[in-house]
Amino acid sequence: MSTTVADVIAATEKLWPPSGAESWDAVGLVAGDLDAPVSRISLAVDAVLDTVQEAIDDRADMLITHHPLLLRGVTSIASDRYKGAVLTKLVRAECALVTAHTNADVVETGTSGRFAAKLGLTDVAPIVMGETPDRGIGRTGMLPEEMTLGRLARLIGEILPATAAGIRVAGEFDQIVRSVALCGGAGDAYLNDPAVLAADVYITSDLRHHPASEARENARLMRGPALVDVSHWASEWLWLEAASDELRALLPEVTISVSELRTDPWDFAVVQ
Ligand SMILES: [Zn+2]
Repeated sequence: MSTTVADVIAATEKLWPPSGAESWDAVGLVAGDLDAPVSRISLAVDAVLDTVQEAIDDRADMLITHHPLLLRGVTSIASDRYKGAVLTKLVRAECALVTAHTNADVVETGTSGRFAAKLGLTDVAPIVMGETPDRGIGRTGMLPEEMTLGRLARLIGEILPATAAGIRVAGEFDQIVRSVALCGGAGDAYLNDPAVLAADVYITSDLRHHPASEARENARLMRGPALVDVSHWASEWLWLEAASDELRALLPEVTISVSELRTDPWDFAVVQ
């Protein structure tokens, strides 16, 4: 009996229960037949033309991505547009597509949990509590030792895969930090969360001008964290390695690989 798409779905639901997903999210099987055999799986943050082509070239029977390809209304899957082209390629190659998104963010070993572990944080707790005390969105914790904000930024740079925009910091290079709040992916929704306000530094992605500026101005008047803005893709790519290990333990007969293609959309930056 070979492993089927349904068997892999069961494994993913054990690791990342769909009940943990946000109500607006779309997780699980996006394309493919439940009874199709699976001997090879590729993992990526995004289902884009390059990661899909790589999975097909590797003869993967399934691509598991963190981000949902289909979230908002779609009225065409014609292949002259990105989403249609991606779906057409996958269906033609009989490569299933599965998403594990916010349901994979909330678990202990999810995107933020993985980032916290890579930084060596202790006393780790979610920023926003989920179904159980060890599950939830984002993480807070303590660095193993106090360090300057500049050194922390360099440490983050060593942990994350390289991207064009690098790592941006709001705060003094030499200020000492120890307590950390972090959220893999876009975390500006938690800038005013008490757990984030109480931290020395908040690490997240996609910080826009107004929320970041407001947070920094408030930090000058009250208490608030320094900000470290990293690549959204890089912060979540870290999770793929942990996810592949966990899947391998449940599906030892399946070959599982992690895509190293950079799907961060920015290609280069100039330093002024
Ligand atoms: Zn994300």
